[in-house]
Amino acid sequence: MQFRARRYDTGELLAVTVIQQQIAGLQSAELRDTDPSGGQPWFAPGFVDLQINGFGGVEFNDERLNTDQVEQVSRACDAMGVTGYCPTVTTHSFEAMARSLGVIARACRENPAVARRVVAIHLEGPYLSFEDGPRGAHPPEFCRPPDWDEFCRFQDAAEGRIRLLTMAPEFPGSSAFIERVVEAGVIVAIGHTKADTQQIRDAVDAGATLSTHLGNGAHAMIRRHPNYIWDQLAEDRLAATLIADGHHLPAPVVKTFVRAKSPQRCILVSDLVGLGGKPPGVYSTKAGNIEVLEDGRLVVAGQRQYLYGAGRSLPYGVANVMRYADVDLKTAVDMASMRPMRALGLEPGRLQVGSVADLVCFDLPTDVNGPLKIRATVQSGELVYGSLS
Ligand SMILES: [Zn+2]
Repeated sequence: MQFRARRYDTGELLAVTVIQQQIAGLQSAELRDTDPSGGQPWFAPGFVDLQINGFGGVEFNDERLNTDQVEQVSRACDAMGVTGYCPTVTTHSFEAMARSLGVIARACRENPAVARRVVAIHLEGPYLSFEDGPRGAHPPEFCRPPDWDEFCRFQDAAEGRIRLLTMAPEFPGSSAFIERVVEAGVIVAIGHTKADTQQIRDAVDAGATLSTHLGNGAHAMIRRHPNYIWDQLAEDRLAATLIADGHHLPAPVVKTFVRAKSPQRCILVSDLVGLGGKPPGVYSTKAGNIEVLEDGRLVVAGQRQYLYGAGRSLPYGVANVMRYADVDLKTAVDMASMRPMRALGLEPGRLQVGSVADLVCFDLPTDVNGPLKIRATVQSGELVYGSLS
């Protein structure tokens, strides 16, 4: 396979050769008379989304989840330019969560198409604040203090694939728990929390390295300072995931967060849920009634403050963070490709000969609020979406 595109980081036009699963050649190319007006698309390492709860009518938390549905969500990522993602299992009973983890693990084991796309499993909960606001849409009756034995049973059910745990660190015993989880090779993220300054510091001292969707999963009204948003913003040992979909955080907040944390500590996530893309209306889910609004926002039914996950994928986030935080293309794309892999402690994809060809090819947005336009996605050297002609 060969195609011509501009490197996202240098702008250089290259002829890219892919043989089997690898990048086999990156040669400088000249713009041709036959090239379409507007030149060539951009290309970059494929996006990696640390937080996908489901998509296209499939929820990973569904009690009836099956391996075909895991493949369905995995393949839906192709159209988003996402070559790797973390299926995210959220708060519920042990049995329900363990079942979902087991189905995802089995899909990875039995289906190479799933295995190539699933980077790791993200466990978001159940050790989260049960208070309205911080808990977001996590059912309060299932939010609970951390439990090492239970976590080990989750990891067994997941066949060892949990690599990211989001938890609230204000429960007694959190520090010791975090130390054990980190020792076991799992990244600990702070989220859905009402922790105070000391509790956040203790969590970071114990090994937490990430904040999950900073600024969301929070009270609608909080004390001006101190509060858990400032505390996490100011903590340089924490990177932060941000949902820059245009719904979850106002533009000035995204800008402020990116400036305060630095782009190097910011990671874009979608937080996609199964209801994304559905027509407006109220839907009954395991997490209660969820309403899809006219503008595509998903909220807990009966109010407008608390969002329930997202319906927009990473191409929106990348385009929005460029607009909102005034960062260049390279900086924005890195937040969606290299930085999520680094946050998991994994080797990111690279544009160099010999690297695995997980690539996204795209154009810049054509309308002022629009997403990157994905032209093609190459997954392990295979064209899985769009065309490269
Ligand atoms: Zn969340």
